Amino acid sequence: MGIKPLIFIHGGAGNYRLFSEEALQRRRVLLNEIAVKSFEVLISKSALDAVEYAVKLMEDSGAFNAGLGSVLTLNKRVEMDAGIMDGKTLNVGAVACISNFGNPISIARRIMEETDHILIAGVSAERLAEFFGFKPDSSLITEEKLERFKKVYDAWIKGERKRMLKIREIVMSSPDLFNFLDTVGAVAIDSDGNVASAVSTGGYWLKLPGRIGDVPLVGCGFYADNEAGAASASGVGEAIAKVTLSKMCCDFMRNGFSAQEACEKAIAVLTRRIGDNTAGIIAVDKTGGYGFAFNTAGMCRSIFIEGMEKPAVAIFPEEPFIVD
Ligand code: ASP
Repeated sequence: MGIKPLIFIHGGAGNYRLFSEEALQRRRVLLNEIAVKSFEVLISKSALDAVEYAVKLMEDSGAFNAGLGSVLTLNKRVEMDAGIMDGKTLNVGAVACISNFGNPISIARRIMEETDHILIAGVSAERLAEFFGFKPDSSLITEEKLERFKKVYDAWIKGERKRMLKIREIVMSSPDLFNFLDTVGAVAIDSDGNVASAVSTGGYWLKLPGRIGDVPLVGCGFYADNEAGAASASGVGEAIAKVTLSKMCCDFMRNGFSAQEACEKAIAVLTRRIGDNTAGIIAVDKTGGYGFAFNTAGMCRSIFIEGMEKPAVAIFPEEPFIVD
């Protein structure tokens, strides 16, 4: 039997217990819609096109911490990272620390396809994006974000949020600082057995200007290899990078574990070596199996596999996530 094409998307791992039911529902609706739309691209085009499109729609939604919805740095700027990988060719493209473009994932893809490099950062990446024809977007810093910034900043100044001492201390002593991890990502496999992975983020609130996390680093926030599978992660970037989470997950699949076993094993290593409440991951293996695991309170996720009537969508571990 041939491979059933599937797209699996995520809208971040984090403490969604703190969100209102309305905010959670908004995410579920978007995840459902975006899984449906990107599945159409998967069927008519390829896994690579589908993961880029899914992430682009999530960037455009403004509801997730990527593209339009990106959070602010310590000096009230937006600095976004994104990465994409084609499992057929092992081609990679990534962009880091860009401030004023709505779709970092598409810039990452152009870097993959039209340059000799895999990762371009900062002002040079922005110049390159303009050269590629992307239009700068000045609407990324909103009043709403500035208000939220003030709350987070005030709490930090008062010492309610211990921050910027050392990343490990931040993660261990103030997990609440990372409550709003809404990074977006996607993995897919098409009917030719090609896999792809994509991920895009604004990082996290109050990050130092110039900080680059796991998202544009190949093997950390994303990885794809037709001989293994594809993975896309979300969570505390410094933790994810230390264990090269997505590559580790793909290596488990390469060694014969299913996507589900690989995700569980990768998150178990992360939890043991770095700590709990640090990240989540989604994956697809080369046989078309899917998996996910997280050590955070929740992970926004949606999957659409050929033959399903509608996508499965869930955020919390206890929520039904029915794939039939
Ligand atoms: N991994 C992202 C970062 O550290 C954040 C996230 O996943 O929400 O930049």
